[in-house]
Amino acid sequence: MAKDRLTEVLIRYEAVIGLEIHTEITAVNTKMFCGCPVAFGGEPNTRVCPVCLGMPGALPVPNEAAIEWTVIAGLATECDIALWSQFHRKQYFYPDMPKDYQISQYDLPFCSGGFVDIEVDGDGVAERADLGGALPFVGPEAVPEDGGYRARIGITRIHLEEDTGKMVHVGGSEGRIAGATHSLVDFNRAGTPLMELVSEPDIRTPEEARRFAQKLRSIWLALGVSDCSMEEGSMRVDANVSVRLRGATELGTKSEVKNMNSFKSLHDAIAYEIVRQADLLDAGGRVEQETRHWDAGAKRTSGLRSKEEAHDYRYFPEPDMVPFSFELAWIDALAEKLPELPDARRDRYIAEFGLPKHDAAALAAEHALACYFEEAVALTGADRARPVANWMLGDLAAHLNAAGIEIVASRVTAAMLAELVGLIEDGTISGKQAKEVFAEAASTGDAPGAIVEARGMKQVSDTSAIEAVVRSVIDAHPDEAASYRGGKVGLAGFFVGQVMREMRGQGNPAVVNEVVRRLLE
Ligand code: ADP
Ligand code: ZN
Ligand code: MG
Repeated sequence: MAKDRLTEVLIRYEAVIGLEIHTEITAVNTKMFCGCPVAFGGEPNTRVCPVCLGMPGALPVPNEAAIEWTVIAGLATECDIALWSQFHRKQYFYPDMPKDYQISQYDLPFCSGGFVDIEVDGDGVAERADLGGALPFVGPEAVPEDGGYRARIGITRIHLEEDTGKMVHVGGSEGRIAGATHSLVDFNRAGTPLMELVSEPDIRTPEEARRFAQKLRSIWLALGVSDCSMEEGSMRVDANVSVRLRGATELGTKSEVKNMNSFKSLHDAIAYEIVRQADLLDAGGRVEQETRHWDAGAKRTSGLRSKEEAHDYRYFPEPDMVPFSFELAWIDALAEKLPELPDARRDRYIAEFGLPKHDAAALAAEHALACYFEEAVALTGADRARPVANWMLGDLAAHLNAAGIEIVASRVTAAMLAELVGLIEDGTISGKQAKEVFAEAASTGDAPGAIVEARGMKQVSDTSAIEAVVRSVIDAHPDEAASYRGGKVGLAGFFVGQVMREMRGQGNPAVVNEVVRRLLE
């Protein structure tokens, strides 16, 4: 869908979006109510026991570590932590949950009333161009900042539940049940601890939704609570979307969009849904309250059969488990142990290393990048943090992208990047040479120092050696030297080029420049 189509719609309609984000707690060893291991993949139905298979009479035992992780997640997102809480049974009949109910939480979630701040810049600002790009915005608090804006998104609650099994509808299109000949079920995932975060309807654009989900992912990664893989399904985001005419105070009817397995899909599905609803309203129709399925291939949402929709969960307190009461001291101790979170890290990178905000945010947002950056800076020195960041966000990012690998799999380790930056900063090699060294290190895994040695690449900074070459070049070009002295100072570049050619690119450019000018004058 064309971007300007969304912008056009958003000038007349205000979109209201709330996200429901399910994250598997992969930091724990065992499932939520039994001792089966938590892992991804493997032969179907091999990590199961009577409890997670819902055998009659099997009794759940809550996983304390999973509850602790949920409280930590709540503390990291400014939530209030319940001092009194319990699990409820959510009844539904579907083969992915053999008990015919899911143990979840209802009116007493572990965490409630939090928020995170998001920053929107670049192209994303245009989606808030409802007022011709003029700030401040209507709606929830949005503060102009660095050509973009910052907005606070409320978190209604974070509760803990057990994940369901996985259904495979054989022969169904897009993995859906419609048209399938039969269905298979794998209970390996059933019972994995699952945090469900529900946001307030504070989100106003697809880009804000993406930034919110990304910010949460980066917080979860910093905490270490989950691996947050949208492809593998350990982080799943559903979007509730409605539109209303600008100026209207009542919320419109929402649809809930599912099946987005990347941040881009999340953005595009919401954008599609906003335009679809606005078109409906423009045509005099009305929005149906329903669950819709995002088809990433066709780039559109479609309604699920309404039969899959009828919900009456008949929640009641889980009778096989007593309620929980938490000590304030226990909560305080967890709060004290919270690690540095991405926003604080970003601000520290700006204050401590003078990184540009955009670079600081990019490094701090991805825990693995931040660790790599800090390791490299510790080795090469804080005064070299900026070149380290530039290399990471430039050549290294491009290389990882092209190779399709994560930074932890990079052949160029933090220690190697620190060494490379050191070689540039102390003048051993030029920036241009460094690019070649980096490329070779990335493909062979050899240390930058060894590559420079083996290729005889050392940059010459020795003034007397450079002076000798400059003298011979000047002697070989008496006419140009005379013109330079007659006022054509632009010819300095010509001499620098000649000298660099003589030195096969190994002259230190700054020194060559200086010597050329000095000896010509
Ligand atoms: P439901 O009862 O349908 O599950 P909830 O009130 O529990 O609805 O809200 C679920 C999610 O939908 C929350 O993230 C909430 O912010 C969001 N939401 C609620 N009403 C709307 C609306 N009219 N438009 C968009 N999002 C909404
Ligand atoms: Zn089990
Ligand atoms: Mg709900």
